[in-house]
Parts: sequence; structure tokens; C-alpha cells
Amino acid sequence: KGKMRVDKLLTHMGVGSRKEIKGLAKSGRIAVNGQTVKDSGQQVDPAADEITVDGRPIVYKEFVYLMMNKPPGVVSATEDNRDRTVIDLLSEEHANFQPFPVGRLDKDTVGLLLLTNDGKLSHELLSPRKHVPKTYYAEVEGDVDERDVAAFAAGVKLDDGYVTLPAVLTVLERSSDGPNGLSRIELTITEGKFHQVKRMFLAVGKRVRYLKRVSMGPLKLDPELGEGSYRELTEEELALLQ
Ligand code: URA
Repeated sequence: KGKMRVDKLLTHMGVGSRKEIKGLAKSGRIAVNGQTVKDSGQQVDPAADEITVDGRPIVYKEFVYLMMNKPPGVVSATEDNRDRTVIDLLSEEHANFQPFPVGRLDKDTVGLLLLTNDGKLSHELLSPRKHVPKTYYAEVEGDVDERDVAAFAAGVKLDDGYVTLPAVLTVLERSSDGPNGLSRIELTITEGKFHQVKRMFLAVGKRVRYLKRVSMGPLKLDPELGEGSYRELTEEELALLQ
């Protein structure tokens, strides 16, 4: 691929701001293939040139892939006038890549959220034609039973008249207190309508109290990630997605 300015490359890799990079170059701390570069506007080939800062090699990569356990109360958008966004939870090192969430989780929904600046991968995962399965764990008011399992397998009619594609509902624990208790379930859907899981339960007269996404396609939420934490995908996870 083509050349780019060394300050752009170093900013992208989280070394510092454009201004800071300019300062580093002026003081002779940046080198390209062993030659000190005083001009931070110098063009480099990220694929071929060896770039160092204080002798430390900076290996360029274009994309970042992050798995987050989204906490409640944060919106899955890059900007919001009122609420904190998932991007606000990123360190500068990762925010520099300007990642965005792949799809949306409601403000109160927690769990697996993939963030990347790879538009092509995001597009593939979100394409309605691909039917990428998404699995949710939920706590639902009332007694979720075999009739709900059958209804979700057949497809339910949402409030706007849309009939959902077949979905797999697994009842983990039925309410011990009939309509006054909570049932624990897992639901796998292969589409992503607005508020889909909540609206599917409303279609059978039940309210979702707690919703957590646990997987998206081949990607499973790392149980080691606490709410609000994130990490880069492993090579293996990335290979599964591509
Ligand atoms: N379904 C919902 O209702 N909310 C989400 O956040 C995700 C799926």
C-alpha cells in the first residue's frame, strides 16, 4: 500500500499528537531505516520502512479490533450529547484508531460489543443477508415456558407488524413464582431489529428485566472481562471473524 506521513503513522499508533511528534522529530528522536528524520512531514512506507522512536520500533497496523463487555448506562455510539459512549471508555492508545461499535446495544444492555475501525468487517457482520447469530442471556418477568419456545421458533409478530425469523429460545430456569417471578433464558436471533429481544418478549406479554449479549457469530464474550473492560481480539478470534 501507499506511503504516508510519519507523523500521521505515529499519531495513529498512539505515540503522541501531531504537535508532540513534531517536537520528537526536531529533537532527533525519530528514525526511519536508521536515519534520523527531523521533518515530521516525511513520507514513509509503513509496510517496508523501519520506524523507531528513541530506538524503539513502532510497527504500524491499520486496524484495531476490540472486545468490550459493555456496562449499563453507556450508549453504543461514537458521540452523544447527553450520555457517555463506549468510546469514552477506551484508552488513548485505542481511541487513536477511531474505532466504532459494530451494531448497537441498548443503553441498559450489557455484554459483548465489538469495536473496530475496519469498515469492511463491520459491514459483513451487520449485513442482514449474512444472518450472523447473536446470543443473549436475559432475565424475564414471569414464567417463560414451552409455548414461548415454540412461538419464537415459529416467529413472533412485533408491535410494528414485523414477523421475526425463527429464533432459538432456551429456558435456563423457569420462574419459581409464576407471573411474579423471573425466568432466566438464553435466546439466539439471526437478525437485529431495534430492541429486538425486548420486543419479542413483549409480543408474548413478558418484560425483559436484564439483557446481556454473550456471543456474536463465532465470537464469545470473554468471562474474564468485567463490565466496562475491553481487550484486543486474539489472532485466533480475528481469524474466526474473517
Ligand atoms: N435486543 C434488545 O432488545 N436490546 C439490545 O440491546 C439488543 C437486542
